[in-house]
Amino acid sequence: MAAKVVVKKSGLHGRGLFAACDLEAGVRLIEYKGVRYAEGEMPDLVDEGHTRFLRLSDGTGIDGTGWAALANHACEPNCELAEEEGSRPLRAWLHTLRPVRKGEELVWDYRLQVRCRTEAYAAWACACGGDACRGTMADPELFEDAATPAG
Ligand SMILES: [Zn+2]
Repeated sequence: MAAKVVVKKSGLHGRGLFAACDLEAGVRLIEYKGVRYAEGEMPDLVDEGHTRFLRLSDGTGIDGTGWAALANHACEPNCELAEEEGSRPLRAWLHTLRPVRKGEELVWDYRLQVRCRTEAYAAWACACGGDACRGTMADPELFEDAATPAG
């Protein structure tokens, strides 16, 4: 595992995670580790530090303190964070989405759960610089003040 990723200074934000060697698509890289939160105990997203906070599908969360939490956001990611089916407690791993060259920064789409569109763009702006950059690290599908009516 340690041979697949390396931590370096990032051009995006702070330190980031980089491929230590050429990687195929679908490679499991590193587990998202940190302080566990039970369902209902999750802190609100209040400042930039909380981009490390990962919400899992069972309602629990992880405040990331390991290497995986250093991976930066991009709107056109080369990695994704996927839950390990059947694991208890639920574990999440960073996987490659496509082949990645040695030295490329490993990035995933945070899709932060921010309900307010204005706040999402003001407080959670994205500067990934990709052609498809949507301008925020938040998940646009969750905006409650979106133009489309809630179902
Ligand atoms: Zn972006």
